[in-house]
Amino acid sequence: MSLVSIHSSVGLLGVFPPHPSAHSLQWTAEGQLAFLGKNAIYILTPALGLNIDVSSAVKNAPSKLNTVTTPLPWLKTVIEQDKRNLYYHWPSDSQEWGTASLGSLDLCLRALTTSPSLLASDKPYVIAVITSNMQLSLWIPLKDHLRGQWTLLKECTLLLRDIASQAARTRVHQTLHAQVGCCSWSSQPLFSDPAPLCDGSLLALGSRAGSIILLQVSEGTPSSLEHVATLQVSDHWVTHLAWNEWTLSAPQQARATLACGVADGSIILVEVTQTLHAEAASQLGHIYRLEVQTNASEPIYAADKKTTTGLQWVTLPARGAVLVFFKPGLVHLWSLQHAEELWSGSRVFRLQTQKTSASSSFLHPVSGVSYIAKYDMLVLSLQDGSFHAVYQMTTEPTLVSPEPTLPTSSAMSSLSRTIFGRCEEKPVKKTDLSVVDGMTSFNGSSTFIWTCESLCPTDFSYKADAQRTTNIITADIWSENDPELLTHQIHQVLSLPPSTSGRAPLDLLRPIIFGLQNDEHLLALFPRLLEVLNAPIPMLLPETYAEARELTPELRREVRDNIGKHLLGSQRMIALRLRLSLADYCWRRAPDDELRTQCSSAASLLLGAVSHSIQQVLIDHLSAILNITTKEDLPFVYRVVIQCLLPGAPPSLSESAQILANRATERGQQFSSGQDTNDLEESCPACGLAVPYNDVSSATCPNGHQWMRCSITSFILSTPMVRTCIGCTRKAFLPPIRKQAKKTEGEGMDLDGPPADDEPDVSHLPPAARSWVVQELLRAASRCLFCGNSFVSLL
Ligand SMILES: [Zn+2]
Ligand SMILES: [Zn+2]
Repeated sequence: MSLVSIHSSVGLLGVFPPHPSAHSLQWTAEGQLAFLGKNAIYILTPALGLNIDVSSAVKNAPSKLNTVTTPLPWLKTVIEQDKRNLYYHWPSDSQEWGTASLGSLDLCLRALTTSPSLLASDKPYVIAVITSNMQLSLWIPLKDHLRGQWTLLKECTLLLRDIASQAARTRVHQTLHAQVGCCSWSSQPLFSDPAPLCDGSLLALGSRAGSIILLQVSEGTPSSLEHVATLQVSDHWVTHLAWNEWTLSAPQQARATLACGVADGSIILVEVTQTLHAEAASQLGHIYRLEVQTNASEPIYAADKKTTTGLQWVTLPARGAVLVFFKPGLVHLWSLQHAEELWSGSRVFRLQTQKTSASSSFLHPVSGVSYIAKYDMLVLSLQDGSFHAVYQMTTEPTLVSPEPTLPTSSAMSSLSRTIFGRCEEKPVKKTDLSVVDGMTSFNGSSTFIWTCESLCPTDFSYKADAQRTTNIITADIWSENDPELLTHQIHQVLSLPPSTSGRAPLDLLRPIIFGLQNDEHLLALFPRLLEVLNAPIPMLLPETYAEARELTPELRREVRDNIGKHLLGSQRMIALRLRLSLADYCWRRAPDDELRTQCSSAASLLLGAVSHSIQQVLIDHLSAILNITTKEDLPFVYRVVIQCLLPGAPPSLSESAQILANRATERGQQFSSGQDTNDLEESCPACGLAVPYNDVSSATCPNGHQWMRCSITSFILSTPMVRTCIGCTRKAFLPPIRKQAKKTEGEGMDLDGPPADDEPDVSHLPPAARSWVVQELLRAASRCLFCGNSFVSLL
């Protein structure tokens, strides 16, 4: 019994999923777990790799769980749904029977999908929710996506009705086109390196009229959703949608397949091709435009009048995407023709009942699907709490374990039953069913996370919704003791396959940091880790841009987009940041001084490489715009130059910095009006004495007052208007706030609205930092420049 290892069990009172679904519990691109409840969405964040105050985290009761590992704390926040505001009265559009919405009788949530990390927005990502009244709404965090409030960004019914009015003639059809029942958000395609800040992810919606609507975030602001395409795939409701990952089919062209489950039981594939067109900008960089093409093919599975209970793609490293879909009691696999002599076409398997309780049955709907690469095995869970395995997914799928050592369906099911017993307060009887309505993998290996509710189907007494408790359990369903697996995962993540595009480091590193929590594994892996951390660092060479001629709003935008592209979209930078985060983690966990010193020297080399890359990008851009800088812009130019001339900078960087310095001095002489001021000194916000600029991260005045510096601009932070990185605690100024956006705050709508022409409010920035260059830089750096994670703020 001591083998049971439960990492956490979080009890949520009055919360339960509306129905079993493989999407009830899903990981977001920011490493958070979104849990779809009947009346609210819970957003849980494991405290792994976070560097913020976790005192508010949900505590577990370790004594009761009797587990071999230390309990994993979770941060929690809730998106409450205000149903009255969101309710749309469909009969006002059409009173035909076909358009009646039965879900309006007991309004609840029905489906959820989350966007990948947004590239050009200061909001990390968006959650899209569909209610039982077939309405779509979008939600974003206000200040803190981990613990803070989320707010309604947009209720999309009006938008969808607009789109529907173009797609259909009659009122009935228009209404059916606007009523959506399922949603799926694609990942972020990676068109080039560095990737332009151009959100290429697509939100697909399946309507009651059998059409699929594709929407896309445009202009970097999630509130301006743009209609991309509508295509008719069937005469029946579209009930399930699933995207596979984007692959590059040609330079600047990405392709993905959207699988659609239709109410008559058929499965249809839609090929979606997206092309990135780059046009030369007015002065600097490029302006990007995306073009989407769709092509629906014949059904790969013909109508059989049987309900589809789940639909999902899994990506097998050795053969690409395989579609998995479910009918009661059956699991279907489908794959494209493969060049090597591997299986292709359709496979179907009849599941076996795993008799863990009196009501166990193989006919229960599926509640989760995960592919385990190490064993080439598909793990799925049914609503009755049983787990099932399909082996040899790459070569020839089978339900029979090819090797006796592999985890079996019955062993996983009985272990999950034992775990259920441990997490329940009352003793578990044979008649009690452990209802699992959502399940997903935690680390791509033996640890899974699932929802669990105790239910006695033979007990007919009434239980109010508020009394129902759902446990979110994280536990191992087989024992895995293989540090090699972690090494493999580390190499896999650092090689940045296309699937990592649009995902935050917190999400990418979660399996690794979770594995390294185990002291034995950490110790065994230390030499390998150091090898990875000390691997040679690729150089970044200076880039030359055409000199800007005139300061226009277009130029400001071009400078911002281009800086953002090179700072956040560069694969080289992303890999360096991941290594730096790992080095930091290893340094904190190092068991002795010698290893700690080695980690710290690796970390400082990586930190140097990241800083120098940032400085190089800034120097390149400042050189291009120097001719149009004014007296107000020069202090920032001097600052960047000073940083680049510090010892340790690569020669190419200090050379280009020196050239810029000379030009800047010349330019400065044009403005000098006789007063000799030192542009690099700031005055101490407490006593007013001059503070020298001799440290990039902190500042001390002659009276001993200590200040932190902004991690993006290096100015002294003396305002509460700052943001803090959740991965490394570095702080930075909030980007300039548009006055118009400020006014609408509180109304809940259009917080991230289209850029206004109003002058932005820069009162929180020190006078020397109010230059337009600094403002655009602060807006471009939507995530931490040193670890790539998102920011949270108090104000
Ligand atoms: Zn002072
Ligand atoms: Zn950071």
